[in-house]
Amino acid sequence: MNLDLSQLTHWRREFHRFPETGWSEFWTTARIADYLESLGCFEILMGEQIINPEFVRGRKQAVVDKGLANAKVYGMNEKWLDKMGGYTGCVAVFDSGKPGKTVALRFDIDCVNVTETTDPNHIPNKEGFASINEGFMHSCGHDGHITIGLGTALWIAQNRDKLTGKVKIVFQPAEEGTRGAAAIAASGVIDDADYFASSHISFCANSGTVIANPRNFLSTTKIDIRYHGKPAHAGAAPHLGCNALLAAAHAVTQLHGIARHGEGMSRINVGVLKAGEGRNVISTEAELQLEVRGENKKINDYMTEQVMQIAKGISIGFGVAYETEIVGEAVDMNNDAELVQLVEEIALQQPQIHSIDDYAFNASEDATVLGRRVQDHGGKAIYFILGADRTAGHHEAEFDFDENQLITGVNIYSGLLQHLLG
Ligand SMILES: [Zn+2]
Ligand SMILES: [Zn+2]
Repeated sequence: MNLDLSQLTHWRREFHRFPETGWSEFWTTARIADYLESLGCFEILMGEQIINPEFVRGRKQAVVDKGLANAKVYGMNEKWLDKMGGYTGCVAVFDSGKPGKTVALRFDIDCVNVTETTDPNHIPNKEGFASINEGFMHSCGHDGHITIGLGTALWIAQNRDKLTGKVKIVFQPAEEGTRGAAAIAASGVIDDADYFASSHISFCANSGTVIANPRNFLSTTKIDIRYHGKPAHAGAAPHLGCNALLAAAHAVTQLHGIARHGEGMSRINVGVLKAGEGRNVISTEAELQLEVRGENKKINDYMTEQVMQIAKGISIGFGVAYETEIVGEAVDMNNDAELVQLVEEIALQQPQIHSIDDYAFNASEDATVLGRRVQDHGGKAIYFILGADRTAGHHEAEFDFDENQLITGVNIYSGLLQHLLG
C-alpha cells in the first residue's frame, strides 16, 4: 500500500458505501481490523478490552441485531466476531519497544440516520460509491475520519523503526448522540496516554484552513424518560386510569421551565414525545427524549439533576411509574496550549493549508470524554477541526466533502507523532 491520495480516496469511498449506525458498525470494525492486521505492527483490541459495558450509552439491541445481520450480508470478515463480543469499535496499539511517551488518537466510525440523495450530480452517485444501506449515510464525514486513522496507521507501519513509545489508535463507535466515548474511557484503555488528539473534518472550516483551538465545547447529557400509567375507559371511568400522556405533557413544560443557572449558559430541548394508544383510552405509555447542555460540567450536572427531580415529581403527581435512562454524554474540554501550538506549526507546514482560524464550537462532541480522561490522568489533549469544502451541511442528504484534505489530515497526525515520538 502506498500512502497517497489514491489509497485514501479508495478507503473513504469503500467506507462511504457501507454506512452503519452507532453500536452496529460490525462490517466497518471488521474491515478496519483487516487493514490494521495487514500492516503487521499493531495489536488489535476489541470488545470488553476497550468497552466498559456499564457505561455503554444509547445501545438498542434491535438496532445491533439488524446491523449485525446486514454486516454479514455485506460480507464482513466474521473471524472478528468472537473478539468483538457484540461491541463495535477497536483500538490499534503500536508498541515501538523503546521507552517514550504514549499517544492516543481517536477517530469515530459511525454514520447518520439519513437517506443519501439520488441527485445524479452528487459525487458519490456519479462515481458509484453512494450508500447501499437505505436510510443510513456517512453524512457527517466519519468515513473520512476512519480513512485518516488508517492512513496514520499506514504511516506508523512505514516509519515504525524511527518511533519511540506507544501509539493507541481508537476507532470509536457511536459518536452520533455522544454515546460511544464514555464506555471506552471507562475501560481505562487510554489511561496511560500522555497525549490525546482527535478532530472533525469540515464542520465550519473550508479547505486550506485548520481550527487548532475551537472553543466552547458544551457539556451535555442525553436522557430518555418513560412513564407507565394505567388504562381506563375515557368516558365511563377516567378516574380509574393513570394518564401517562398527560404526565409527559406536563413534564415537557416543566422541563423547559427549569430555572437557569446563574453562572453560565445552559440549554434544554425535549426533541421527541411519544404517547398514547387510542382516542378513547386513558394513555398508559409515554416517552420523552431530551437533552441538556451547559457551558461546563457543573452547569450541565445542575440541569441533569433538575430533569431527574421533575421526572420524579411528575410521576408522583400523576400516579404513574417512571424510569430514566442516560443515553449519551459529553463534557466541556479546553485544549492544552502545547498541542495547539504544535498542530498550528505542523498545519502551516502543509502546502494546502494557508490559515489557522478561530471558532466557537457551541456544540458537543464526545471525544471530550476521552480527552478529559487523559487530562485527568495528567496528560494533554487537543481536538481540532480540519477544514474541507463541503457540498451541504453535516447530516444532510447532499453532504460530501473535499477528499483532497484527507492527506492533510494524515500529515497533521503523522507530524504530531513525529514530534512527540520521533
Ligand atoms: Zn454528526
Ligand atoms: Zn461528526
